[in-house]
Amino acid sequence: MNNQEFYDRLGVSKDASQDEIKKAYRKMSKKYHPDINKEPGAEEKYKEVQEAYETLGDEQKRAAYDQYGPAGANGGFGGGAGGFGGFDGGGFDGGGFGGFEDIFSSFFGGGGGATRNPNAPRQGDDLQYRVNLQFEEAIFGAEKEVSYNREAECHTCHGSGAKPGTSPITCTKCHGSGVINVDTQTPLGMMRRQMTCDVCHGTGQEIKDKCTTCRGTGHEKKTHKVSVKIPAGVETGQQIRLQGQGEAGFNGGPYGDLFVIINVLPSQKFERNGSTIYYSMNISFVQAALGDTVEVPTVHGDVEMTIPAGTQTGKTFRLKGKGAPNLRGGGQGDEHVTVNIVTPTKLNDAQKEALKSFAQAGGDKAVTPKKKGFFDKVKDAFEGE
Ligand code: ZN
Ligand code: ZN
Repeated sequence: MNNQEFYDRLGVSKDASQDEIKKAYRKMSKKYHPDINKEPGAEEKYKEVQEAYETLGDEQKRAAYDQYGPAGANGGFGGGAGGFGGFDGGGFDGGGFGGFEDIFSSFFGGGGGATRNPNAPRQGDDLQYRVNLQFEEAIFGAEKEVSYNREAECHTCHGSGAKPGTSPITCTKCHGSGVINVDTQTPLGMMRRQMTCDVCHGTGQEIKDKCTTCRGTGHEKKTHKVSVKIPAGVETGQQIRLQGQGEAGFNGGPYGDLFVIINVLPSQKFERNGSTIYYSMNISFVQAALGDTVEVPTVHGDVEMTIPAGTQTGKTFRLKGKGAPNLRGGGQGDEHVTVNIVTPTKLNDAQKEALKSFAQAGGDKAVTPKKKGFFDKVKDAFEGE
């Protein structure tokens, strides 16, 4: 799996912002544009840059690419048309980008999918679904049924939009082209403009007898259920792509995809970063001083842990293999247990006596303060003035 190459093609790092990607893309496009750069191999480079941007310029495709490599990003996105079909649609978000669209249509117009054919099959929209997972579910994996509303193919007309027994006909006004020419008289003479056909709205097809279920759209809103297998070791923000579980396509095009976005709920006990789980544990200073064996909770059940004599507060112990699965490298992470030594706040007389003898036994005079501490000295200094 190589999910680095597209970044290399644009010359950006993997954590580049969308803005940086767009800038790098513009720069590279200019550099290798076949109208500008006549060196051999430039055209090839140019196409590679387009391909990389088509994926990285789109947050969703980029996420899929980061997770699954080129297979993830390419699989369901092409929409059936030529490799660059996506550019014609939503690839550009206007604003200052004007000239490029023209360059693309002239460059890809001959061979690619950029020429818009109103009757070409088009893939449906992708959908996102956010799924909440319990802390442990994310570690061990889960099977979740998700239910959502989507535009599905109309069950009556199977997407044609025409009443059963009839079929759409070629539009009588535009003869199937989806566009009409409109002549307008202007002070400079007759101007001819191309407009989207008002009868078929650009589809090139006219439905005389509309399906009554979908009123000719070919789609109907439906509740859709799908079961998602969530792999062990997922983390918040990761996405699982379910091909064909998005919205219905157009003109017989395939369904879009569903992106299930993982949100892991916090645990009462544990924290987690990647495959490492963190647990914080209170022990008494007696346990810390003398050493002890304690039961420590892990997501895999309680385990015994030895606290050596003389343990300091804040010390971290590692329970090997008691963490979460490592999604990338395989294997299992560790649990890190940090111990906090709790100083008792309420002591009975017997305990006080015992501690005093403990201090005396060690020759420790700090318990009965004869010397003034630093702050007392400071205080005295101020009071003296
Ligand atoms: Zn219908
Ligand atoms: Zn028409």
